[in-house]
Amino acid sequence: MPEGDSYIRAAARVRPVLVGKEVTEVAGSAPEIRLRSGILLGAKTTEVRTRGKHLLIDLDAGYSIHIHLGMPGRIHTTAPGRRPSGNLGAVRLALSTAVGTMWVVAAPTVEVRRREIVEKDLDQIGPDLLAEEFDWTRYEEMANRYPSERTVSDFLLDQRVLAGIGNVYKCEVMFLQGVDPRRPMSEIEGEERLSLARRARRVMMPNADRSDRSTIGRSGGGYWVYKRGGKPCRRCRTAIEQAWVGEPPRITYWCPTCQPVHTP
Ligand SMILES: [Zn+2]
Repeated sequence: MPEGDSYIRAAARVRPVLVGKEVTEVAGSAPEIRLRSGILLGAKTTEVRTRGKHLLIDLDAGYSIHIHLGMPGRIHTTAPGRRPSGNLGAVRLALSTAVGTMWVVAAPTVEVRRREIVEKDLDQIGPDLLAEEFDWTRYEEMANRYPSERTVSDFLLDQRVLAGIGNVYKCEVMFLQGVDPRRPMSEIEGEERLSLARRARRVMMPNADRSDRSTIGRSGGGYWVYKRGGKPCRRCRTAIEQAWVGEPPRITYWCPTCQPVHTP
């Protein structure tokens, strides 16, 4: 599932294909792309960047392409005139330059907007967990405003509080913090809130530049609890629980021993 680290890796793949190059061909089924291919054709990319779970391709003449991959979206790059192998799915945008093509597949959001409009929309999202400088002040503000009856599971997924985290890291962070996902935020004190964000950064950052995401401290090592329902906990051998948690409900995994239900 694409989370903040996936976007950083996608941006790294896309940069050599697009930055400083002129767009020579535009295709794709996103309605925006048909409407705005005139803007894209011949444009030069000045920068490719990420904000949480958003990829921004800045073009000269003041436009940006804004891509959000949702759950199914993928980004591939190929040499010029080649298609990615396998069953590709719906190509929402294919952007070619003299050196290659970027393929955006199955992404729910692919739009072309004036840069200032994109920036205004992105102002709504919280501090980026993978930014070099994390905005702790804003995080604390947003955390303090968060409804105290809602679960810590929902808190971690709320992109207005923390940008870039998704369901995989949510489960892993709660395991590493020893927090039951159903606990309400009213039980999570200030210091523990800070520690949740610190943990999320520590777990996500090493994955920004390796292709096989892992949270257990080595490349290719897999996860502590995510998608491990019924299997023994890697720490205590208790069977991992899985259930729908939060609003909207998301499938969530946790160890009932390592993440005890808090009794106030
Ligand atoms: Zn355990």
